[in-house]
Amino acid sequence: MFGAYFFRWIGFPIEPDVIKIGNPTKESPVLLTCNFILTVKRVLKEIKNLDCYLLVAPSNGINVWCGACGDDFHTDQVISIIKTSGINELVSHRTLILPQLSASGLDPILIKKKVGWNVKFGPVYAKDIPEYINNNFQKTEKQRIIRFPIKKRAEMANLYFFSIFLIFSVIYWIVSLIIQSYNLTLYLNSTILMFIIIYGSLIILPNIPFKTGRPKVLVYEIVLIIIIVSLFFIGFLNLFYLIWDIVLSVLVAYIVAEDFHGLTPIYKSEMGEKSWNKGKDKFKFLFSEYKLQPYGQIALEREKCIGCKVCIEICPRNLYVFNETDKKVDLRTPEKCINCNACVKRCLAKCLIIQ
Ligand code: SF4
Ligand code: SF4
Repeated sequence: MFGAYFFRWIGFPIEPDVIKIGNPTKESPVLLTCNFILTVKRVLKEIKNLDCYLLVAPSNGINVWCGACGDDFHTDQVISIIKTSGINELVSHRTLILPQLSASGLDPILIKKKVGWNVKFGPVYAKDIPEYINNNFQKTEKQRIIRFPIKKRAEMANLYFFSIFLIFSVIYWIVSLIIQSYNLTLYLNSTILMFIIIYGSLIILPNIPFKTGRPKVLVYEIVLIIIIVSLFFIGFLNLFYLIWDIVLSVLVAYIVAEDFHGLTPIYKSEMGEKSWNKGKDKFKFLFSEYKLQPYGQIALEREKCIGCKVCIEICPRNLYVFNETDKKVDLRTPEKCINCNACVKRCLAKCLIIQ
């Protein structure tokens, strides 16, 4: 659990299985999630008072959203767990509730075709599952929207802080041994700086008025360097500390900028397909979360829309609204789109594109 909390980007799988919750009957709901240990534990905690089945599908130990946006949590794995878990004998119905954020990777039409199960996309958050079920499998608007409060962002930032901290510590110890000069103050000073850059970015970057990570981090970095240089001029840092702090802040800020997505999914990753393609073979285990679509603008070819409302059900930014007059959807505030690609992939009329 400790590893999954602090180093989640390498994947922490548990064995795919069907888990019985309470005293389910043949009519009880069947939910499905990925096999990232932390997700399974959290879902189990939220549904512990229900009578239902939970299918844990293989996703290489990656969480639902990252797995579905990438290539770790996809339709074949859902089909495989349905076929191998024995769930067909445990229940008499054929309705499967998937997490809403899996919509980018999981295809309900293919699932229906291959194994005969009807798919419903449940709420974004596991805590809303009991209410969703009690509400006859209807989601409220609130249950469809992704929020990313500071507490959640801090949890994501742990993965950067602890990983960079470990790498930095090893480099520092090796360099200290070689030059036979270990300086505890410098070590602590740099660790605190890293902490400030990574966790501070979560609070400050969303308020810097640029759309993507790199320009935001550039502004943040300039402010940091001004502070570091000011500390030097008021005598708080010596020349060695000054240089070391600037080098470290540039390095850490660069990492934050490259994958701001990992810190807060409401912004795009700067790691486009090009970077991913370069490293995917050698470092697949490290970059499994980053197989994201390139940054683009969502657009609706409205004349083709058939009003199926799928996009309304699955958009985590709540960008679609049904127009009762002509029974089609309108796309509002497209600039808030986070390119999760769920609507593009699931639109029945293929009338949504990311340009
Ligand atoms: S509009 Fe954007 S955020 Fe909403 S589902 Fe489509 S791609 Fe995702
Ligand atoms: S998913 Fe496509 S066809 Fe269905 S309502 Fe949305 S835009 Fe229209």
